[in-house]
Amino acid sequence: MKCRICKAEAVVALRSHNAAFCATCYKAFFARQVERGIVSQHLFTHDERVLVALSGGKDSLSLVLELSRQGYDVTGLYIDLGIPGSSAAARGVVERFCTRHALRLIIKTTADEGLHIPLIKEKLHRPICSVCGKIKRYLFNREALAGGFDALATGHNLDDETARLFSNTLRWDGSYLSDQGPRLGEEPGFARRVKPLWRLTEFETANYAFLMGIEHHYAPCPYSSGASFTTLKGILQRLEAAMPGRKLDFYQGFLQRGRTAFAQGSPGDDQQLAPCRQCGSPTSNGDLCGICRIREALNTP
Ligand code: SF4
Ligand SMILES: [Zn+2]
Ligand SMILES: [Zn+2]
Repeated sequence: MKCRICKAEAVVALRSHNAAFCATCYKAFFARQVERGIVSQHLFTHDERVLVALSGGKDSLSLVLELSRQGYDVTGLYIDLGIPGSSAAARGVVERFCTRHALRLIIKTTADEGLHIPLIKEKLHRPICSVCGKIKRYLFNREALAGGFDALATGHNLDDETARLFSNTLRWDGSYLSDQGPRLGEEPGFARRVKPLWRLTEFETANYAFLMGIEHHYAPCPYSSGASFTTLKGILQRLEAAMPGRKLDFYQGFLQRGRTAFAQGSPGDDQQLAPCRQCGSPTSNGDLCGICRIREALNTP
C-alpha cells in the first residue's frame, strides 16, 4: 500500500477517508484535521490562551502536543484525584510529557480541595464516577477562569462525541441535544469549553500518538465500571465499518442542521443560576453548589 500523498510505503490506512499515508504525511493529515476542526467551529485563535485538561491518556496528550506544534498558546492542567493504583502513575506520565515537550503544566489535587475521591467513595453512597466527573468539570472551569484562559480544551474525539450524540438522540433529550458540540459555554461564571479533536476518531488519534512516540497511561481507574458508552461505541463502530465516513457525517449533520432545532431549549432547562454562597460558582441548587455540598457532607461526622 502506498501513501496517497508522496507514494512512499504507507503505515496507516483510513477507510473513512479512502486513503493511506506514510508517517510524515499522516502527521500532516492529523494536523489538518485538528486545524479544520478549530477554524470551522471558531474554537479559538492563535491570540488566545488555551488551558488543556490532561488525563495522562493518549487523546489529551496528543491534543496538547499538536496544538503546541501549531503554535497555539497552551498550558496543561492535571487534576490529581488521589485514586490508588491510577492517579500517581498518570500524573508521572503527564509530568514527564510536559517536561519533555517544554509545556507549561498546572497540577491541582482534589485532596487539597477537601474533595479526596477515595474518601468520597467511602463516605458518600453515590455513583462515584458521576461525582468525580462533576468535581473534575468544576475544577477545570475554576482554573480556566482563575488563570484568565480564553478556552478550556478537552481531548474528546469523534467516537466520544458521536456516542454521546447517539445516546442523547435515543432519549430525544432536548436539553442535552441543545448543549452538545465542539464549542460550548462562555456564559457568566463558565469558561468556553472546546473539543479540537472532534473530527478525529480514537483510531486516528491512537495512530498519531504512536507515531509521535507519546508515552501514555494505561492502568484503568479501579473505580471504573468499564469505558463509558461502550455498547453505543460498538454499534457505531460496526456502522462505520459497513459505511465508512458515516460517523463524521452523523456528527457534522447534527452541527449543521440538527442542533439548531434544539437551540430554542426544552421544557425545564430555563433554570435560574445564582452564585454559590461558599465558592461563588453559578448554581441552580440554591444556597450551595453541588461541589460545596459534597465538601460539607464529607466534613459531617
Ligand atoms: S473511572 Fe470514574 S472514578 Fe475513575 S477517574 Fe473516571 S470518573 Fe473518576
Ligand atoms: Zn507520504
Ligand atoms: Zn460552591
